[in-house]
Amino acid sequence: MLQSHLHSLIAKAHRYQGEPERFELTAESPFIVRVHGANGDHSVALNGDHLVCDCDGFAQRGERICAHVLGVEHHYRTRLPDGAVTWPFAAPA
Ligand SMILES: [Zn+2]
Repeated sequence: MLQSHLHSLIAKAHRYQGEPERFELTAESPFIVRVHGANGDHSVALNGDHLVCDCDGFAQRGERICAHVLGVEHHYRTRLPDGAVTWPFAAPA
């Protein structure tokens, strides 16, 4: 993954974290959150003990991570399992 892409993803996730109105819990079991993203809504679901998203970056590019799952992990961190988001690279300090 390009470093610049990673930086923009993290910046976007941080922005979402400061905007809790973007997150809308639509189902408890299974756990599904509607994320009102900058470019449209996305659905983030807890699949087993991992968060998955329906956006292009997560599924189609196979990155397995996006600003939406990062935002959801942060917003609902008290009720999600540890490691709900898998970083495909070393997490920044
Ligand atoms: Zn996403």
